[in-house]
Amino acid sequence: MNHCPVCGQRSIGKVGTGQYFCWDCCVEFTVKDNDIKVFDVQADGSLLLADDYVLEQHVILHQEGVT
Ligand SMILES: [Zn+2]
Repeated sequence: MNHCPVCGQRSIGKVGTGQYFCWDCCVEFTVKDNDIKVFDVQADGSLLLADDYVLEQHVILHQEGVT
């Protein structure tokens, strides 16, 4: 994973095992097998699962040829 699944930019940082942060749209996302979950980071630092991003995730996965 080297693209943000939400905005498609490369300015992402790894924050844990299979866990990344996008500096452009300030979301965290986790990658496990083919499953990407995107989380909005709340003001208090907690994470809120963001289901709205499902479509974009699939586009990025397809572009990268992840199997
Ligand atoms: Zn992003």
